[in-house]
Amino acid sequence: MIDPFGRTVSYLRVSVTDRCDFRCTYCMAENMTFLPKKDLLTLEEMNRLCSAFISKGVRKIRLTGGEPLVRKNIMFLVRELGRHVHSGGLDELTVTTNGSQLARYADELYDCGVRRINVSLDTLDPAKFKAITRWGDFSKVMEGIDAAQKAGLKIKLNAVALKDLNAAEIPEMIRFAHGRGMDLTVIETMPMGEIEEDRTDHYLPLSELRADLESEFTLADIPYKTGGPARYVEVKETGGRLGFITPMTHNFCESCNRVRLTCTGTLYMCLGQNDAADLRTALRASESDEYLYAAIDEAISRKPKGHDFIIDRQHRKPAVARHMSVTGG
Ligand code: SAM
Ligand code: SF4
Repeated sequence: MIDPFGRTVSYLRVSVTDRCDFRCTYCMAENMTFLPKKDLLTLEEMNRLCSAFISKGVRKIRLTGGEPLVRKNIMFLVRELGRHVHSGGLDELTVTTNGSQLARYADELYDCGVRRINVSLDTLDPAKFKAITRWGDFSKVMEGIDAAQKAGLKIKLNAVALKDLNAAEIPEMIRFAHGRGMDLTVIETMPMGEIEEDRTDHYLPLSELRADLESEFTLADIPYKTGGPARYVEVKETGGRLGFITPMTHNFCESCNRVRLTCTGTLYMCLGQNDAADLRTALRASESDEYLYAAIDEAISRKPKGHDFIIDRQHRKPAVARHMSVTGG
């Protein structure tokens, strides 16, 4: 699949549910209205959709959400998609999770062919963790990380950089992650979906964070890539890798290789734009995949050049109305 700007689309991110057992302040409002259950694709339908994308050239699938591991029977989908990893049809099947259910699922994930996962963790302080996630239990996430490492899963930690909340803690998080053989990636807050607070209050440009870190660490740019938008440095003092994802200060769209599928079968061709394609109708129109392939081709032909996120005091409205939990980040 090649889009109008010559970019090959080989990466599909699938939000398997918009629901979550946390309510991170930058991601969701506390009283969220979720999609009616009747609108969701079944896991069998998601499997068929993902398989169609694999036939059309997708080499990497990431399951995300909402919290992917709270969707009922999610391991059915993981196991089905894992078959493509075992057969060589897919290079990688990965998951982005808040870690709350990892203690329960880590072994099974590994068994299904998952080798790397991303765990979102913004702080190592249990009280701050509660303040940021509202409903999360820090000790459960730590147990999950332990279980995942024991199962043989490689973990990358993702932290959203939040001014006055976790910025001062990033050095400690670097030492923690690298001490346990995990990469750490820091992410800028993106203006997606209405939340209770004002995002400008906590927005921290990573250029500032990097400058601060450089007073304590020696950071060397390295060409390491994981197929995502992160730019990596090696931290000389720890020997570990630190990634920066900077959608706000540096637009990374020119190398975008991905599209995003929601749990209702809507395909977003860009995280930061509203244009979307309905694949559910094509999926349900026929048992054979011909309509689906046509709908996918048509969607890819509309992939936009990029997004234009802005966070400042003049732009108080989110750039896109949907929350990150709909498209999974
Ligand atoms: N629940 C899972 C988790 O937290 O890892 C998967 C879904 S979550 C939406 C995916 C990632 O998006 C998380 O790392 C989260 O921190 C990040 N995220 C959520 N809202 C965001 C926002 N407005 N700006 C930047 N990152 C955000
Ligand atoms: Fe849930 Fe992940 Fe959003 Fe936090 S960031 S509320 S864990 S979907």
